[in-house]
Amino acid sequence: MHVRVRAPGGDTRGAAAALSMTPPESTMPTMADAPTSHVVAHQQAPRARGEAACRAGRPAPRRAAMFMVASWWLVVVGSTHGGCARTAASAPMVATTWTVAGGAPVAVRGSRRLSADVAAITRALPAAAARLARAGLRWHTPIEIVLHDDVASFVRATGRTTSTLRAWTTWRTVHLLPRWTWASASEPATVARVAHELCHAALHQRHPDETAALARRAPRFVTEGVCSVLADQGAERMPIASVRARLHEQPDERVDFDADPVFAYGYAHHVFAALAACRGPAALLAAVDDTAEGGRVEAALGAPPADWLRAGCPPPTGGGATDGPPVGPS
Ligand SMILES: [Zn+2]
Repeated sequence: MHVRVRAPGGDTRGAAAALSMTPPESTMPTMADAPTSHVVAHQQAPRARGEAACRAGRPAPRRAAMFMVASWWLVVVGSTHGGCARTAASAPMVATTWTVAGGAPVAVRGSRRLSADVAAITRALPAAAARLARAGLRWHTPIEIVLHDDVASFVRATGRTTSTLRAWTTWRTVHLLPRWTWASASEPATVARVAHELCHAALHQRHPDETAALARRAPRFVTEGVCSVLADQGAERMPIASVRARLHEQPDERVDFDADPVFAYGYAHHVFAALAACRGPAALLAAVDDTAEGGRVEAALGAPPADWLRAGCPPPTGGGATDGPPVGPS
């Protein structure tokens, strides 16, 4: 049997490319305890080109502010620029910043029409960070979560056109489509998605810099599986029995996250969920690090991936794994 895992075709488009994407999600994971946090509000300045265009022939911009205060978050809507407010570049923006205790800040921004999404994503940050902290995963470089108004904006920013995509994460930026495009916009689903994407950014940031992260990426089978597990997305993945049946029926089929995301994410999730259950959450990051350095997935797992779908913890196979489908380089 041979199951190969390969990287997405668009992963070679350079530093702006890369890093992660997730299909629609509909899970109902539990909320984790929120860490200590504080919030800093700021106004999102319009992009320079749009600002210049707006200012041409117009008086200095007026600033309008609307404040929405909750127990730990604050949203500021600002920067209306007269008649230019309807242009994309100068549309009123909503922005928040949240910082996990001892970590780097996460900014969330989107247009005013998405202020409810910005607020919901901001509320999700503490629980999302707490899920990653269980494996000792955190980020050191500030991250910005950018909510795009529509698919066209998302594609322009990411270069990704796969229709199932709702998110794309690079070293410091999480690109998101609005929640109305998601399979579920519930609070638990929002926490799970935010945790998943922050996981990708944090995995990239385990490298010294973005260049190193792009050059030494772990296979997507590993990063998607690890982030799905840390985000508690098991309930929304293909059931493990279905994954087993699929591997039995089509053992030579490629694992393709773009063409068949339901199977690919389900397979990856259940493999790494079993790894975490048998060896603890630290084993997840160890697998990422091992494969990022060029190690084979089977070697990092200590057994062929399919062996992790069976009952019980598989015994280490050493260097000569033969029981189950090997996973090739991606
Ligand atoms: Zn992902």
